[in-house]
Amino acid sequence: MRNLCLIYDSGITNEEKTIIVNTLAKAAKIFGNRKFVNLGKNPMLNGNKRVSADMMVAKSTRVKIGQYGPQYDAGDIWQQILDCPKQQKNHFYCVFFTSKDITAKLSKNYLNFCFGYTLGNIAVISTARTRDLPDDDRNVMLMGLIMHELGHAFGLAMGGRSNSENNLGVHCTNPNCVMNQGLTRKDLINNFRRSFRKGCYCKQCREQARLTFD
Ligand SMILES: [Zn+2]
Ligand SMILES: [Zn+2]
Repeated sequence: MRNLCLIYDSGITNEEKTIIVNTLAKAAKIFGNRKFVNLGKNPMLNGNKRVSADMMVAKSTRVKIGQYGPQYDAGDIWQQILDCPKQQKNHFYCVFFTSKDITAKLSKNYLNFCFGYTLGNIAVISTARTRDLPDDDRNVMLMGLIMHELGHAFGLAMGGRSNSENNLGVHCTNPNCVMNQGLTRKDLINNFRRSFRKGCYCKQCREQARLTFD
């Protein structure tokens, strides 16, 4: 069974790190009781060279959208994680955290904003837009994003399930499930909070999570 690994850049605060580590350790249990490994800030080997999380963010495309910016292309960060020989060799599930604001390309255009970006077994999450929230909302937002993006990494709501929809990715239509889609911060925080009261993943998502053995 593949490990669940954490990588974060130097902007992630100790407070955020605590929430991230605790949530990922919990998730590792839900997703098949797999091993959780904290790879830290300079985790990847490329030949003999260590590649740091900061380097990966710095090398990704910088875009400026509207009054915001700069934002970093999450797809570029994702690609660099995938390209590292260590990832190629072990194919571990990976959650990468950056304190920088991110965006993602949808067909040819960049989205105005993006909280998390997941493709295959690699997720990229930004804490930038959680930081101005009141403490309690920020914690809910961060924990929810982790569980939600990990759900994507493990393919939840996929496979032609009846209670799923395609809305910027495949999502669960159960309003009490962390895999429900939300397009604003307020919606997401409400969804996440509601889902945590109901056990985070709905019955069908939980069953799908349990069946992921790779
Ligand atoms: Zn999603
Ligand atoms: Zn669900």
